[in-house]
Amino acid sequence: MLKKSIKIFLLSVVVFLMLLSSIQAQKILYKGNIESKIYHAPHCRFYDCKKCTASFDSKQKAEQAGFRPCKVCKP
Ligand SMILES: [Zn+2]
Repeated sequence: MLKKSIKIFLLSVVVFLMLLSSIQAQKILYKGNIESKIYHAPHCRFYDCKKCTASFDSKQKAEQAGFRPCKVCKP
């Protein structure tokens, strides 16, 4: 009985670690408004705007492209 509960425990640890690594593997994509030259974080309400067609995987890349951070979401 004890061995079975250890197996279940180990299995849940493995599942937890897999979930954790999949979250970390996700790249945060910033989206840039090509008209206002402002970039947004994914949680921003302007993230999916019509003019937000530029996308960046880092803040540095967005700023190198001439975009500035949004004042609402503060990426
Ligand atoms: Zn924003």
